[in-house]
Amino acid sequence: MSRTQETAVPFRYRCPVCATSSRPYLTQEKARSHGEGHRNRFHGDDYPDGEYIEHSSRRAPRRPEKGEAVALAIVAVLVLAGLVHKLTA
Ligand SMILES: [Zn+2]
Repeated sequence: MSRTQETAVPFRYRCPVCATSSRPYLTQEKARSHGEGHRNRFHGDDYPDGEYIEHSSRRAPRRPEKGEAVALAIVAVLVLAGLVHKLTA
C-alpha cells in the first residue's frame, strides 16, 4: 500500500442550486473542470449561487492490488491444506 493512495484527499464540485455534487476528484483542477461542464450544461454558462469545490477529508476508495489478492489466496490455500492434513493424519 502506497502512502499517497492512503492520504489522497478528493475534491468535489457542488452545486446547491441543483442540489448535486460531482464524483470525487484527486485534484482541485479536475473538480473545477467538472464544475465548468456542469455550468455550461445546466446553467447556460452562468454561475449558480453558492457553487463551491468541496475539500472532503473522505479517502478515495482504494482498489486492492493484484499482488495482495494473490498473496491472500496463497495463504488461504496453505491454511486449508494444513487443516486437511491435520484432520486426515
Ligand atoms: Zn447546477
